Amino acid sequence: MTFLQKMKEGFIRFMQGRHGNDNLGMVTLFAGLILSLVGAFGGGIVFTILGLALYIITIFRMFSRNHEARLKENQKYIELTSNVSTKTRQFVKRMKNRKDYKYFKCPNCKVLLRLKRGCGEKDITCVRCGHQFKEKA
Ligand SMILES: [Zn+2]
Repeated sequence: MTFLQKMKEGFIRFMQGRHGNDNLGMVTLFAGLILSLVGAFGGGIVFTILGLALYIITIFRMFSRNHEARLKENQKYIELTSNVSTKTRQFVKRMKNRKDYKYFKCPNCKVLLRLKRGCGEKDITCVRCGHQFKEKA
């Protein structure tokens, strides 16, 4: 067995039962990298310390044997960010389609609805709450 193979097997054995990396880990790792770079290029000691703190959190989470707690943290992170990324995706789609559709909110429940442009005034029934109103597009 070569030295590299021994190293690899040793690492695999070391990582057994440990949490490893996940989505939140990637974010803390990159945020730490960016902060420490900002700190290194004149951002000041505060950025360097924050970057180091994020590295420590990343490493702590990776080597943690408390799987359940780490999974919960990652789940929480995904929940928090999926809302933001859904909103961003919807916004980009709206911007792309804004010439073909008029977007508006239901005055009752505020859900976002759309009408094909140039269809004139329509009677709208909200898909979520059933509220009826008129809208021109
Ligand atoms: Zn509604």
